[in-house]
Amino acid sequence: MLKHLCVAVAILLAGCKGDGNVWRNASVPVIQPGATVQLRVVQATNPRLARMSPQQMRILLASAQKTVKENFGVNVEFTQVDETGIERLFALIPPRVLAERKQSIYDFKSGIGDKQKLAAGINATLTERGTKLEQGYGYAKPYLPEVPPPKTLMEFSELLSRVMLERLDNWRSVKAADGAPVLDASPYNEWIYWDTLGYGKLPYELVITNQLLASAEYVDVDIHSAIRGGVSVGTTTYSRDSKFGAYIFWSTFPFLDNSENTVQMRGGETYSAEEAAQLSGTYLAHEIGHLLFQFGHPFGQKSCVMSPVRMLRFRAWSRQIDSAACPIGSRPEMSVGAVPPIFNSNWLRMAGEP
Ligand SMILES: [Zn+2]
Repeated sequence: MLKHLCVAVAILLAGCKGDGNVWRNASVPVIQPGATVQLRVVQATNPRLARMSPQQMRILLASAQKTVKENFGVNVEFTQVDETGIERLFALIPPRVLAERKQSIYDFKSGIGDKQKLAAGINATLTERGTKLEQGYGYAKPYLPEVPPPKTLMEFSELLSRVMLERLDNWRSVKAADGAPVLDASPYNEWIYWDTLGYGKLPYELVITNQLLASAEYVDVDIHSAIRGGVSVGTTTYSRDSKFGAYIFWSTFPFLDNSENTVQMRGGETYSAEEAAQLSGTYLAHEIGHLLFQFGHPFGQKSCVMSPVRMLRFRAWSRQIDSAACPIGSRPEMSVGAVPPIFNSNWLRMAGEP
């Protein structure tokens, strides 16, 4: 989901992400009802981790196609799936832009991250997004430790940052098939890298990876990724070479992994190979809604594909989807162009310079 929901002109004027750079909206794609759109797809694989088989990929993409058609009335076609490695993909990121953006990474691996800055960053993001304490806390409460309710958004942000770091630490103990931790010294897990890829020459609208995306940032952390310990399932973010102004990165790890930590976040759900692919495709339609229509998040409105999954309970989420109860235009978040991807024109300039 849009981990980086930086919404509306007011935020742009206020200097979203707090660095005073020049932020602009990507334009709204013009897509007629019943139109057919094509997405270029690549699979970026970490060889240390389980991946979807070709058969599972077919199920995943067919499931996404069906869900998009049923809920948004558009025919999505996917190109043949290319293959790449994460290292090769990250090599597309313009070095100067990456150097700038790396400053926003909370370094949880070395333990030198600034906890107070993390909490302040969450508070800034929630404030920018107009989050109401009561609603935000109500959404997260079932998944938080029992503590006195926070009285301010800042107290809530401090609670979220503590929970996020504790749970991110739990992800560090999850092992890959080779017995070594899934989260190793590589930056493959870092959301910031994936979120910066679109400033390079990325020839895809959909990148599917088997990598666990778990990290902490001083910017753009929202409630649902915080309570998962910094895990993202997918994100739709700016891409300069996409005709939709954005691209999707999508992780199959939360669907394929059956470690205790993952299963706990799924509320005990475990999936067969087929159901994992099916659910991953259904939930991918959520990102395609961001990509093609720039929909927002109608939080808690369970009939809507655009309502984010709670923790990693994909089966429970998918059973509540009802396209008839959540048509396009039915809610502010379901309006076309509700949340355009934003880009930083300074970074774009840097990307073009040697
Ligand atoms: Zn989303």
